[in-house]
Amino acid sequence: MALIVQKYGGTSVGSTERIKGVARRVAKYKAQGHQVVVVVSAMSGETNRLIGLAKEILEQPDPRELDVVVSTGEQVTIGLVSMALMAAGMKAKSYTGAQVKILTDSAFNKARILSIDEENIRTDLANGYVVVVAGFQGMDEDGNITTLGRGGSDTTGVAIAAALRADECQIYTDVDGVYTTDPRLVPEARRLKSITFEEMLEMASLGSKVLQIRSVEFAGKYKVKLRVLSSFEEEGEGTLITFEEDNKMEQAIISGIAFNRDEAKITVRGVPDRPGIAYQILGPVSDANVDVDMIIQNVGVDGSTDFSFTVHRNEFAKAMDILKNQVQKHIGAREVIGDDKTAKVSVVGVGMRSHVGIASKMFRTLAEEGINIQMISTSEIKISVVIDEKYLELAVRVLHKAFDLDQEAV
Ligand code: ADP
Ligand code: ASP
Ligand code: MG
Repeated sequence: MALIVQKYGGTSVGSTERIKGVARRVAKYKAQGHQVVVVVSAMSGETNRLIGLAKEILEQPDPRELDVVVSTGEQVTIGLVSMALMAAGMKAKSYTGAQVKILTDSAFNKARILSIDEENIRTDLANGYVVVVAGFQGMDEDGNITTLGRGGSDTTGVAIAAALRADECQIYTDVDGVYTTDPRLVPEARRLKSITFEEMLEMASLGSKVLQIRSVEFAGKYKVKLRVLSSFEEEGEGTLITFEEDNKMEQAIISGIAFNRDEAKITVRGVPDRPGIAYQILGPVSDANVDVDMIIQNVGVDGSTDFSFTVHRNEFAKAMDILKNQVQKHIGAREVIGDDKTAKVSVVGVGMRSHVGIASKMFRTLAEEGINIQMISTSEIKISVVIDEKYLELAVRVLHKAFDLDQEAV
């Protein structure tokens, strides 16, 4: 007998028919003698709908109240899934995040899980129940409802699996695993049988939204066995997220290509080249809770330099405002310019550690298509470039091909 946590995303619970499908799958696992905890998202489109409603009232919704609104999506699905399980002859019980006691910090809209009280779930499982937990939500110390950021149900799934020391956490979604790149953009993308935590972490943080980054962090930290699977197929092994040392197979040099359309670039020009400048530029930005991604500072010439960085497109206007109105004059910079029509493309692979020439191959491939690289950043296992958004699709396709990731035509 194993303890399995199954997380179902929005499309997988997108209709009552699909919800009945979830119940059928759970029944199969129960019949094999396993204990099952189900974690669910809101029905597809629901979270966006709720955010839309909030914005009709307040253009910048109050963060606490927004969480009160958006957390309702998951509350609906836990009730419906529990009923579907009952209809299929199982004992089932639903829990909101607060009912479990998924304790989070108070960062509304992007809260972090601090602890999970798993006692009641254990008791229910021992008594033969399937336990159904609302993804994406928790409660802070003062009893406020919080949510974990878009895609946060993945993190709930993995965190519950970690708390229960589950044998496996299965992430059911609308694709049958993790692909070499988003199969919606590149039909030639291939499913990976396995991918290392490190690579998955990079892919997720560089824009592959198949798993929320925090879920991968959790799985890595607590050694949760994590698998991504399709909820639409009966069979299939999906993609297993592995530790590198377990992955004895011959490693491809590049495992995947991630991209992110939400990138906006800001350049502060003519910045005095002296100690403390980076802090004076980025301090006020970070004080306003704007996350900064790639950062580049030029080599100074004649005592001045240029300083560029990227932020999420949603926060572009806010960051520009801070720089123009608080920072520019203060540090004596010449001008602040911005471009919110940029995108980031990254190649990821642990094989990069032992192979040289990956960066030059990437740059040559882009050059051959006339794609200008605006910014570059590298780590041991990834190379990212910022380019004009209009070349994003082309860039991903040509890199996918150049690094031999295309599926062979059948
Ligand atoms: P869910 O609602 O089940 O959480 P998501 O939409 O959050 O589903 O994540 C699944 C989607 O992630 C897929 O439909 C796919 O378009 C996208 N995706 C992006 N990059 C990848 C990738 N490398 N492999 C698989 N899917 C990816
Ligand atoms: N329903 C939330 C969202 O759409 C959480 C999730 O689906 O993981 O972001
Ligand atoms: Mg998701």
